[in-house]
Amino acid sequence: MASKRPIAIEVIYPEPEFEVVEPAQEFTWRETIPENKDVPILRDIYEHRAPKEAGILFVNGKKASMMSEDTGTVAHELTHGIHSYLEKGSSDFAAFYVPGKGAVKVQKSLVRRIDIAPFIPKELRGIDGDGGRFHTYIQDKHGREPEAGTPFIDGKKQVGSANALYPWDEWVSYINGAKAALQAEKEFGKQNSDYLTGPVEFSIYALGSMMAVKKLDPKYASSDAFLNMKKAYAYFTRESMRVLKAGRETSLRADKGEAYLERFRKSNSTEARAMKDFIVSEFGAEWTAHTFGFGARPLANRTEESKPTPPERKSLWPFSWPFRSGTP
Ligand SMILES: [Zn+2]
Repeated sequence: MASKRPIAIEVIYPEPEFEVVEPAQEFTWRETIPENKDVPILRDIYEHRAPKEAGILFVNGKKASMMSEDTGTVAHELTHGIHSYLEKGSSDFAAFYVPGKGAVKVQKSLVRRIDIAPFIPKELRGIDGDGGRFHTYIQDKHGREPEAGTPFIDGKKQVGSANALYPWDEWVSYINGAKAALQAEKEFGKQNSDYLTGPVEFSIYALGSMMAVKKLDPKYASSDAFLNMKKAYAYFTRESMRVLKAGRETSLRADKGEAYLERFRKSNSTEARAMKDFIVSEFGAEWTAHTFGFGARPLANRTEESKPTPPERKSLWPFSWPFRSGTP
C-alpha cells in the first residue's frame, strides 16, 4: 500500500482590501534611521510616516528621540502615527497600516473599548495572565477605562470612551513592531524585547471586540462592515501567527506567545469556551484549527486521501472554498 504523505494546506480566509498609501511629500521630522536599526520593514514604515510625525516620545517623563528606541519600538510608534493620520479624525472608520501592502480600513461600530472586557477570559488578561497589558489597554485594575487610547482635550479632559477598534490600533502596531524587531534581530543581533508577545495577545483582545460588536451592535453585525471586519481579523491573526512562528529561534519571547496560545487552547472557563465557539462559528472549524490549533483536526496532519471535498458554493459568503494547496 502506498504511504500516505502528509500535505501542508493553508486555510485562507478571504483577504481584506488594501488601499494604497502614498508617502507624503513634506515631513516635519527628518532624522535618519540609525544604521544599526535600518531594516526594510522599518524603512517602509518610516517612509510612510505621518507628515506631522514629531519623532518624539517620553521615556520616564523625559523627551527623547524615537530613534533612540529599539527597532521594534520605532516601528510600533510610527505605526500609531500612520493610523491616526490615515483616519484623519474620522469617527466612521479605523485604518491599519500593512508595510508593503497599504491600509486596511474597518468601519467603527457603536461598541466601546470598555465593552470588550467581559468577553476576555481572566486567564488571558495579560500575556502571563496577571493583568499586564489588559490593564494598560482594555480595562484598568479598578474596572475603569485606562488612560491609554482615551481621547483627550487639551491634554487633560477626557472626551468619551475609546472605540472597540482601539485595541486593533495597538494590535497592528505590535505586529509591525514584531516584524521589524525580527528583521533587526536577524540583521544586527539580539533585540532584548518581548515583541512576539503583543501580536497574539491582541489577537485575543480583538476577538473580544468582535464578540462585543456581535452582541451589542446587531445592525453592524449583520452588515457588510462586519464581514469586512472579519476579513481584517483573519488577516491580522494570520500575520500574528506567522511572525510568532518565524521568531521561534530568537530572543523576542516567542515562547511566551506560544504559552499564551496554549493557555487559551487548554482553558475551559466559561469565557474561553464562549470565545472558542465564537471563532469556530464565525470563521469555520478548518480555519480555526489551522490558525489556533483547536476546533478540528489540523489540516497539516491530514493525508491526501482524507482531504475534504469543497462544499457547494451557495452565496457570496464565504465567497469560495477557502482552501489553497501549499507546498507539498
Ligand atoms: Zn502602542
